[in-house]
Amino acid sequence: MKKDIHAALESVFGYKSFRLDQEQIINRVLDQQDCLAIMPTGGGKSLCYQIPAIVSDGLTIVVSPLIALMNDQVAALHQVGVKAATIHSGIGQAESSSIFSDMKNGKLKLLYVSPERLMSGDFLNFLGNYNINLFAIDEAHCVSVWGNDFRPEYIKLKALKQSFPRVPVIALTATADSTTQKDILKQLGLDDAKMFLSSFERKNISVESRSGLKRIDQIIQYVKQERGNAGIVYCLSRKSTESVATKLQAKGVKASYYHAGMNSEDRNLIQRNFQNDDLQVVCATIAFGMGIDKPNIRWVIHYNMPKNIEGYYQEIGRAGRDGDPAKALLFYSWGDYLNLKKFIDEGEADRHFKKVQTAKLERMWEYANAVNCRTNFVLNYFGEYRAEGCGHCDNCLNPPKIFDGRTYAKMALSGVLRSGENISSSLLIDVLRGSFKSEITNRGLDKLKTFGVGRDIPQAHWSHYITQMVNQGIIRIDFADYSKVKSTPLTKKVLFEDLEVPLAEFAGYKKAKEKKVVKSTINLADVDKDLLSRLKSWRNALAKSKNVPAYVILPNKALEQIAAEMPTNDSQLLEISGIGQKKLENYGDEILALIG
Ligand code: ADP
Ligand code: ZN
Repeated sequence: MKKDIHAALESVFGYKSFRLDQEQIINRVLDQQDCLAIMPTGGGKSLCYQIPAIVSDGLTIVVSPLIALMNDQVAALHQVGVKAATIHSGIGQAESSSIFSDMKNGKLKLLYVSPERLMSGDFLNFLGNYNINLFAIDEAHCVSVWGNDFRPEYIKLKALKQSFPRVPVIALTATADSTTQKDILKQLGLDDAKMFLSSFERKNISVESRSGLKRIDQIIQYVKQERGNAGIVYCLSRKSTESVATKLQAKGVKASYYHAGMNSEDRNLIQRNFQNDDLQVVCATIAFGMGIDKPNIRWVIHYNMPKNIEGYYQEIGRAGRDGDPAKALLFYSWGDYLNLKKFIDEGEADRHFKKVQTAKLERMWEYANAVNCRTNFVLNYFGEYRAEGCGHCDNCLNPPKIFDGRTYAKMALSGVLRSGENISSSLLIDVLRGSFKSEITNRGLDKLKTFGVGRDIPQAHWSHYITQMVNQGIIRIDFADYSKVKSTPLTKKVLFEDLEVPLAEFAGYKKAKEKKVVKSTINLADVDKDLLSRLKSWRNALAKSKNVPAYVILPNKALEQIAAEMPTNDSQLLEISGIGQKKLENYGDEILALIG
């Protein structure tokens, strides 16, 4: 078996070695043992059940919540010569009977089903007639209310272990904090499962967080610098996806928007165009992304702060799946925080659930405002601990300068007390900066002793400092009272006992140094540009005719490697990462002819 799995990796998928815990996970599954695989997005979860399916007799059932994802996986498997199919609400009678007959003949290796379909009617009984060798449960965090994407239809999956006690189950997820990890095992009834937690660090993604002032200007400038590189702008509301896309279009960027309010035809079109590199930027709600598997997304921007670290990390994980350098930029503002808090408070969920959600939101806010290594913040959230910095986040690359913030803190705190703890943080900043807006004069706030004491400090800087004061516990924001700023037991220590208040300087945005973090294995100087463009047109035309995403035929990275190494025969072609036996057979001659 051990030999088989390496052979399958090379000859079917065209990859040279396993990544992360792939090999241990596959061996565990082949030993008929249950396991939970926690791997970051792009880590290579699919191979953990696809290779066992390929080397074993019988049929592997893959449970997945998203039709688009299932379709793409099946298309990709067909490309490498593996018989797979999917059954969901969009599959007609004729197609499903041909799938069932493949199952009968033992031809089918993998069957992808939605959880609803799997648990409906007597589908499980029906499966009892077949030799099922493995159940793979993708996006397994959906089974836990502690996770960030609970789906009630997942709960029923517990019956799998009861109905098929001998068939191993592999649960997979890219997003589960330590509480959720344990709950997944419990909810699925996997008592003896082994847990594999791969490192969540994505070394090729450099992360950055900026306070959300003039976001649009910043985004336009950012996209310009990206010169055609593909990226996603995640927004909280449908309306902002449309308005950001329109503003980018006005600057000549090939941009469009995507949200759940559009019909599926329009959404599919956007997705295909993005996948085939016909569209550079998609401005989207988080509805976009789970179903896309595009390896060359170079950047992800969060126009608004997401509601938790799990979601944030999933979304930025869509960048740089090919392993080449990629970037993630997060914008955040107090307004974002309040909006999200409102969603939670006004939602239907019970009190317990709201508490979990609020705690997760608070961690997200701390992350956005962190002055230390951001990657370590995330690792620690997912149960991994490390002291040294990552070297690929803004705080590591450009450590904020810390200064003695006592003077500023005293200005702000006396403003809080003198206003009678009766104003919001933005009004406090207006008072400190000496604004004569009507709300201030009407309320007589211009008569306070602190009025205008901080007028030399720009508004954005104040906002940055006050956030840090809140995070240090010397000011408190009272959600129950219109988010007014209030004192805490530490306030007096600052004012009267000279408690230290270290503050990180406001960094500004432009000076962030660009540092290439991970070198691509392909030397771009070696790439023959003409050949690359011929390869791309050939590949894109082929993808169009087969109606599959271009990367399913061959990803850009493979084309670049070909255009750099210019293989002249079959065995050299097999050296290209991503070319296995089937792709060699199908496309080898055409590629060699293009190289000429
Ligand atoms: P995820 O963990 O997000 O589900 P995928 O299974 O989609 O990740 O894998 C991400 C990409 O990495 C895919 O293009 C896949 O073919 C590729 N990949 C997976 N395992 C390996 C490997 N051992 N070597 C090279 N590429 C791999
Ligand atoms: Zn770091």
